[in-house]
Amino acid sequence: MLGTPQCPANIQKVIDNLIAEMRTHPANGQVADYIPALKNVDPDSVGIACCTLDGEVITAGDADKDFSVQSIAKIYSLVMAMTRSDDQLWERVRMEPSGQAFNSIVQLESENGIPRNPMINAGAIVISDIIVSRYSTPNHAFVQFVSRLCGRDPVLVDNTVFASEKKHGHRNAAMAHLMKDFGNIHGKVENVLEHYFYQCSLSLNCSDLARSLLFLANKGIQPTTGETAGEEVCTRVDCHRVNAILSTSGMYDQSGEFAFSVGLPAKSGVGGGIVAIVPNFGVIAVYSPRLNQFGNSHAGKWLITEFAQKLGLSVF
Ligand code: GLN
Repeated sequence: MLGTPQCPANIQKVIDNLIAEMRTHPANGQVADYIPALKNVDPDSVGIACCTLDGEVITAGDADKDFSVQSIAKIYSLVMAMTRSDDQLWERVRMEPSGQAFNSIVQLESENGIPRNPMINAGAIVISDIIVSRYSTPNHAFVQFVSRLCGRDPVLVDNTVFASEKKHGHRNAAMAHLMKDFGNIHGKVENVLEHYFYQCSLSLNCSDLARSLLFLANKGIQPTTGETAGEEVCTRVDCHRVNAILSTSGMYDQSGEFAFSVGLPAKSGVGGGIVAIVPNFGVIAVYSPRLNQFGNSHAGKWLITEFAQKLGLSVF
C-alpha cells in the first residue's frame, strides 16, 4: 500500500492534519447532560483512530482516552443476539430507518410495540431482552465478548454512568413497559433495562473501538493477530445485515445526510464517539463529546467526513 493514499504513513499525516485543523475550529455543540454522569468529561477532547485490516492502529489526538460508548454498544449487542437467534428476531425489531430521535417513543404505539430498528433505544431494548433470555449471565457475556474483540481484558463498565443511567432512564423504562404490554418484551422489564443500561455504560477508547469492529469490514471474520485472529464473529450474511442497518439507521435521524455526504456504515453514541466501517479496508473511530442536535458528535462527524473524502472511502 506504500505510496497510495491509504498507506499508513499517509493516513497518519491525514489524521494529524485533521486534528490540528479541528482544534482551530470554534467549539460547536453541547455535551450530553440528560444522563448527569455524562457531563463530567473534558468537552474539548478530540481523538481519532484508524485500524486497517492488518491490525495496524494509526491514531491522533485523544485516541487512547476512555469514554462512555453509549449507543455504539448497540452494535455488539446486536451481533450477540443475531448469533443466538434465527430470522424471527426481525419480526420483533424491524430494519427500517425511523426518521425520529434515538429515544423517541412516538412510533411504538401505532406500530404495535415493534421498534423500527436495533440502533434506536427501543430496538436495542428488544435486543437486550433477547440477550437476557439467551445468555445465563448476560452482563458477563457482554463484557467477555467485547474484551475478546478488543484484545483488552477486561473492558470496563463505568459504574457511575451505569448508576446514572438507571436513575434517569425513565424514557427507556416507559418504552420497555409499552413494549411489554404489546408482548414484545418477554423477560422481566427490570432485568432487561438493567442489561441495556449496562451495555450503554461500557467505556472504551477509539483504538479499542476500531480494532474490535474489524470483523464488520472483513465479512464477519476478525482478521487481526492474537486470540481472535481468523475467528468468525458473525456470518457473512449477518455482517452484511449489520452494515446495511448502520448505513440506514446508525446516525439516527441524520443517517440519510451521513450516507449522502460520507457513504459509510456508521454508529454514534451520546458519549461523543462515532465508528465508521470501511469494508475491505478497516474501521475509523472518533471521539469528541460535544453533540449536534441529532445527538451525534459534532467534531467527530466532521473528522470522519473529511477523512473519508480525503482517502476516497465510500461504499457507494
Ligand atoms: N444510554 C443512552 C440512552 O439510552 C444511549 C443513547 C445514545 O447513545 N444515543 O438514552
